[in-house]
Amino acid sequence: MESKIEKLQKIIDSSNNIVFFGGAGVSTESNIPDFRSADGIFNIKLNRKFTPEELVSHTMYKKYPEDFYNFYREKLIYKDAKPNYAHKFLAKLEQLGKLKAVITQNIDTLHEDVGSKNVIKLHGSVDSNSCICCNKKYNLMEFLSLTRPIPKCSECNSVVKPDVTLYEEQLFDNVFESAEYFISEADTLIVGGTSLIVYPAANLVHYFKGKNLVLINKAMTSYDSFATLVINDKIGEVFKKIII
Ligand code: NAD
Ligand code: ZN
Repeated sequence: MESKIEKLQKIIDSSNNIVFFGGAGVSTESNIPDFRSADGIFNIKLNRKFTPEELVSHTMYKKYPEDFYNFYREKLIYKDAKPNYAHKFLAKLEQLGKLKAVITQNIDTLHEDVGSKNVIKLHGSVDSNSCICCNKKYNLMEFLSLTRPIPKCSECNSVVKPDVTLYEEQLFDNVFESAEYFISEADTLIVGGTSLIVYPAANLVHYFKGKNLVLINKAMTSYDSFATLVINDKIGEVFKKIII
């Protein structure tokens, strides 16, 4: 019988408009924890008065900025993380002209770091931060050099906020539409390393009209029954077995 890897190989060989839609599970093999796995950020014992889920919300940023910024620096920024095989594989697939877009919920920069060009960042990036008053921009290294715990703008002394989408916040303009466009044009959609629990991002799967929906995730998701192929394994390990 044909193995799941053989099926994935055939799908990739026969597709010319692949779109990848991923989440935190794509970066766990780079030692960045996801949110919902057993060793994920939502399950760590913080010994603080707030849960991690509360700590990454807009309410926390507004009401308890010190707690928010301490948690953000400590648990969401991994400045020394290196791209893993999944990031490399997707960049190569794009270079070959087979993959048209990487859509990611991740706020790390590992897809860009390894050379992916069309990366749609649904939830923003740790590498972009803006003064809420004068809009001066700070990259990650500049952000980390600002005052602590609350980072203040070097021009006007107002708060500098990461350009990432917190819980209770809207997505940035146009990113959802752009992601929707690439997914609706794709012949193959590979969804990987995401629990598909965070909305509106998870809704994107519904825009796919192509032939092959592939899900690669360590745990099951509520979308498994809609997929052409489901592989419950580590995404970097799976891609290592595919020849391109
Ligand atoms: P999630 O934590 O809800 O789900 C991650 C999923 O990936 C889980 O189902 C898990 O079983 C799976 N997984 C873990 N390691 C894997 C691997 N090596 N191969 C295959 N699957 C693996 O994360 P999510 O769905 O992305 O949504 C949560 C939010 O997390 C996003 O909005 C994102 O902004 C944020 N986040 C981002 C980062 C990052 O930037 N790297 C890290 C943590 C959380
Ligand atoms: Zn300013």
